[in-house]
Amino acid sequence: PFDVLVVGGGPAGAAAAVYAARKGIRVGVAAERFGGQTNDTMAIENYISVLETDGPKFAAALEAQVRHYEVDIMNLQRADKIIPASQPGGLIEVQMANGASLKARSVILSTGARWRNVNVPGEAEYKNKGVAYCPHCDGPLFKGKRTAVIGGGNSGIEAAIDLAGIVKHVTVFEFADQLKADAVLVSKLKSLTNVTIHTHAQTTEITGADGKVNGIRYKDRTTGDDHWVELEGVFVQIGLVPNTEFLKGTLELSKFGEIVVDAKGHTNVPGVFAAGDCTTVPYKQIVIAAGEGAKAALSAFDHLIRMPAL
Ligand code: FAD
Repeated sequence: PFDVLVVGGGPAGAAAAVYAARKGIRVGVAAERFGGQTNDTMAIENYISVLETDGPKFAAALEAQVRHYEVDIMNLQRADKIIPASQPGGLIEVQMANGASLKARSVILSTGARWRNVNVPGEAEYKNKGVAYCPHCDGPLFKGKRTAVIGGGNSGIEAAIDLAGIVKHVTVFEFADQLKADAVLVSKLKSLTNVTIHTHAQTTEITGADGKVNGIRYKDRTTGDDHWVELEGVFVQIGLVPNTEFLKGTLELSKFGEIVVDAKGHTNVPGVFAAGDCTTVPYKQIVIAAGEGAKAALSAFDHLIRMPAL
């Protein structure tokens, strides 16, 4: 069995594996896709000490650092179920989609999250070519340009307020008849001079030319009329979904499906820790996920040294 089995190979999982391996214990990483969301990122400009890099380069560097240690990397492996130890200090079992079963004295869950898509024509085609999901990451790339925000909940309105300070103009599209964000955010948004708000607005297409976004098409749900707005960027803000469906009923999740962790990365199941975008820790960013992964590994080690067999 592993001393530490990490499930998920994004920044959180990679950091956890490196920190655990440096304790000289048996470490495994099972990941559906090593590198996680960073594989899908164009420019990364906010990982401290790295002025600029791109996603695939960053993902390769994560993997290289983990491979530098004696870590058993199991790539293209999806976990389907986790079975807590039957007695304190016993082995935790992780069942894989391919039928395999892995056993470990501690488990670190770092399965990340995924942005919910609007699923309109143009979204997939212009991803990273004007279609973006993370204002903290990509907002500065649209400096001086016109952008849209799809979604009028808290994350959409926070994104619109944030972007309004950077870009030339922000147009917010909300499907419902009113913005769902907190009143204080809505009033802040309405006080800004470079923001237009469309409610009752169903986005129907993200249009583009020469390989980049040039506008957004929407239907006014009160009149049924179609409109097109010319702009250079679209931020989709209709939710970030944690990859934790397989954990339902096994450990405590928040109402958003995030794994509930304390300040040291403990879940409510002994010996099971969690880190990164799949947890309740706020602000889903690489530098934060990596820090949380390191923390979870140190907590797992703390747990192990209190167990009889190590
Ligand atoms: P993830 O990166 O999501 O990794 C999750 C890992 O778990 C993957 O290996 C995945 O395959 C695996 N996994 C999932 N389910 C299972 C399962 N059941 N069994 C086994 N493995 C599983 N952040 C920044 O700081 N700066 C940026 O510039 C930036 N740009 C971004 C651009 C885009 C397009 C996107 C999508 C995100 C961006 N982010 C950026 C956010 C950043 O990528 C995430 O915050 C970070 O990757 C989270 O790391 P993580 O390890 O928690 O999860």
